[in-house]
Amino acid sequence: MPNSPAVEVAGLVMRYGDKTAVDALDLRVERNTITAVLGPNGAGKTTTLETCEGYRRPHEGTVRVLGLDPINDRKALIPSIGVMLQGQGAWSGVKAMEMLKHIARLHANPLDTDMLADRLGLGDCGSTPYRRLSGGQQQRLGLAMAVVGRPEVVFVDEPTAGMDPQARRATWELLSELREDGVTVVLTTHYMDEAEKLADHIHIVDHGRMVASGTPIELTRGGTATIRLVVTKPFPEGAPASLQAALGPDIEVKPISDTSLLITGPADHTTLATVAAWCEQQGVLPESLNLGQRNLEDVFLELTGRGLAHTAGDTR
Ligand code: ATP
Repeated sequence: MPNSPAVEVAGLVMRYGDKTAVDALDLRVERNTITAVLGPNGAGKTTTLETCEGYRRPHEGTVRVLGLDPINDRKALIPSIGVMLQGQGAWSGVKAMEMLKHIARLHANPLDTDMLADRLGLGDCGSTPYRRLSGGQQQRLGLAMAVVGRPEVVFVDEPTAGMDPQARRATWELLSELREDGVTVVLTTHYMDEAEKLADHIHIVDHGRMVASGTPIELTRGGTATIRLVVTKPFPEGAPASLQAALGPDIEVKPISDTSLLITGPADHTTLATVAAWCEQQGVLPESLNLGQRNLEDVFLELTGRGLAHTAGDTR
């Protein structure tokens, strides 16, 4: 269906026994975009993707990919989608390039496998058996396998987990080029910088629920400035409230930990002078005072009261 969105998920509920992993989730992905589903470990990102890929049947709600039902219309849909699973497997003894070429032969009009391997830095390990590839190399091979068939929509689950910075950049470039070529990319990640740099649209998921959606600029509200104040010893009791009172209602003060505060609003001379005077009055010594734009971490913190960056599995 040429005019349908690439992906349309409505009221999706997914359960594992008593646990509700995805809770009435709506998600719409327009064609020719990169969409990131961002959230901490266990948020329900993989389960949602697996449902779009036709590996799981919705317990409630509907899922359409290119206007088709991923389970009932599987035969019609499969040539149009590419899938990179988390911890993707391959036969342990198969050589990397053999595997990629095998997948390419299953498609009518595949990409040039040598070019793809070269782009993803797989050239040096083409004759290495799959089980001997590093985690990052296995990830890159998984991505190559997902895109080699020129899919219309590609689902990539945590595409850069375990990759070194160079491989991450190569992956981002490849995904951006795919979008230029008209491919729709749906990826999951818990790396904010990945979502912020790469995605046209970001959907933040937590506990199986959609907590915010928008472009990176919409989500970080463009020009709103932030000040991150970190002090050398824990704040006295009631400190955030007293700083809030000193700064007034146009500025928001949010505790991040007992030694750090996030101050959101116009970061002008008056704000800075007020923060400095307040520190003196409270007898706390600033260790750092960083001025910047509100980022996705701040947004996530505001929405959930928890940080996103230091979830399990995120080693950076
Ligand atoms: P991660 O970033 O760690 O991959 P995620 O956001 O992709 O997490 P899911 O893998 O979808 O989250 O898991 C959502 C919830 O469902 C988690 O609490 C998880 O423990 C649970 N879960 C996932 N798969 C299963 C399963 N096969 N059986 C039981 N519970 C599961």
